[in-house]
Amino acid sequence: MALNDDIMAKFYITTPIYYVNDKPHIGHAYTTIAADVLARYHRLIGDEVLFLTGTDEHGSKIAESAKKAEMTPQEFCDQTSAKFSLAWDELDISNDDFIRTTEQRHITGVKNILNKLKESGAIYEGEYKGLYCVGCERFLTEKELIDGKCPIHKTEPQQISEKNYFFNLKKFLPRLEKMIDQNEIKILPDNRRKEVLGLFKQGMDDFSVSRESVKWGIPLPFDENQVAYVWVDALSNYLTALDYSEGSEKLKKFWPADLHLMAKDILKFHALYWPAMLMALGEELPKTIFAHGFFMIDGEKMSKSLGNFIDPHDLVAEFGSDAVRYLLLSQFPFGVDGDVKLGNFAIQYNSDLANGIGNLTSRVLAMVEKYFNGVVPAEDGGLSGEVGDIWSDYQKAMAEFRVDLAIEAIRKLISIADGYVDVNKPWELAKSDQEKLAKVIYNLLEVLRHLALMLYPVMPECSQKILSALGKSDFTSLTIEELKKWGGLVAGSSVAKSEQLFPRLVKAE
Ligand SMILES: [Zn+2]
Repeated sequence: MALNDDIMAKFYITTPIYYVNDKPHIGHAYTTIAADVLARYHRLIGDEVLFLTGTDEHGSKIAESAKKAEMTPQEFCDQTSAKFSLAWDELDISNDDFIRTTEQRHITGVKNILNKLKESGAIYEGEYKGLYCVGCERFLTEKELIDGKCPIHKTEPQQISEKNYFFNLKKFLPRLEKMIDQNEIKILPDNRRKEVLGLFKQGMDDFSVSRESVKWGIPLPFDENQVAYVWVDALSNYLTALDYSEGSEKLKKFWPADLHLMAKDILKFHALYWPAMLMALGEELPKTIFAHGFFMIDGEKMSKSLGNFIDPHDLVAEFGSDAVRYLLLSQFPFGVDGDVKLGNFAIQYNSDLANGIGNLTSRVLAMVEKYFNGVVPAEDGGLSGEVGDIWSDYQKAMAEFRVDLAIEAIRKLISIADGYVDVNKPWELAKSDQEKLAKVIYNLLEVLRHLALMLYPVMPECSQKILSALGKSDFTSLTIEELKKWGGLVAGSSVAKSEQLFPRLVKAE
């Protein structure tokens, strides 16, 4: 084990920081749960993990919302940011850090970044032209306009220009294109990588790193009349959480990020702007950027007006945290667009969780109790080959960030165990062949142990319950090689009765 400790890898994983103009919804939950599954998996295999999430709190939209709510921008941010923290607590999200862009450590870090960019020559002064709404006190995008007018003030915005600082993106594009093309920075899934490479062909303009007309933001250290552009502010969080400065131990230990996870709508910022900024800073680039797809809810687009903006809190109240995690991630392949069949959740809960994992666990533990007074009766290797194969599928899926396939492997293990019960009929062996019965029960118990370990990233609560029934709840001191070796349960040790893991939902029947 000492050997493994020495070569322990680090794994730095991030979600985007979520904009506090929005309350947490199922879309945020989807990304964050997936990140949590991967973070927990990497802890299971012994990596030193830093899992970062947080909230993005600057910009004129926030200031407007605060004004409407009759609060100061900071009060408004405090309130909404707390809703995200609470949602993640309810979903058992195991983030190691939660960064807010209004925190002093972030502000300090952003100023360090901007100074360094300026010194490197990547930032220059220029003029920004845009459509400005006086009522909103900000630039509007063409997309926001309705019939050429501000949707809030119903007035035509003015074409004005202001002084801005720009980032010399063009300078970094050729090198970045090459690095993406050669997978030195991996963009996944592959169709997203191709999309990004397509952007280089279209050509791209330099982007503003500051705004003059916005007040709620981080002032530039070299020009106090300007605040950092929201994307520069937000992207920097991945470094500021590591106390970005010369000599930061955290930075040395965890940078570069191993995985930036997000939905595909913000891929461009992460795959182009961010790596280019990092190049200018002289920092290493993130190893992988994974953009998952969009989803519909029961075949309909999610939107506030349709009223299907689902609050994760309501789902947790109905199904429990473990089940929500499982049900959301098992809907469609991770990475592509899909449909979340919320209307089927109760049915799937009963079939996969109540009848699947729950039933298998309670059946096996009840048989140990009934036939062997709750004592592990023998040792045998009857299912070791099958379990080893499942581990391979499972670990391959996790290594490729395919949490849906990891869940698929878990399902397969459950069906192997169910099939093994059906074929061996322990209740008949109990009358005819005690020796074989003991082996059959051992194999099933050992499968439960492996199952619980594989479940740990996805459904931590149920995993812990199974492991504690088996007397194996403390597994953190063991390496993954030790954990996945067949035979972790020892004959003669005690096994507890199981509580009901997933009570059946009557509503679905
Ligand atoms: Zn307006």
